[in-house]
Amino acid sequence: MTTYYVNNKAQENGDHEVHKEDCMYLSSIISSIDVGDYYGCDAAIRKAKTIYAQSNGCFYCCKACHTS
Ligand SMILES: [Zn+2]
Repeated sequence: MTTYYVNNKAQENGDHEVHKEDCMYLSSIISSIDVGDYYGCDAAIRKAKTIYAQSNGCFYCCKACHTS
C-alpha cells in the first residue's frame, strides 16, 4: 500500500492536492495531513474529501484521480 498526504494549503483554484508518499512535489509542501495507506488514489481522495471537501489528485503522482 501507499501512504497518501493532502496539502493543508490550497492551490489557487481552491483544490487541496493529494500526493503519494514518494511524489517529488511532496517535499515542497510545508504542511500536510497523513490521509492513510491505500491501494489506490480513489480511496485516498475519498478520505481526503472528509478533511477538505475540495480535494484533488496531484497531476503528477495521482494522475488517474486528477480532475481539472
Ligand atoms: Zn504528487
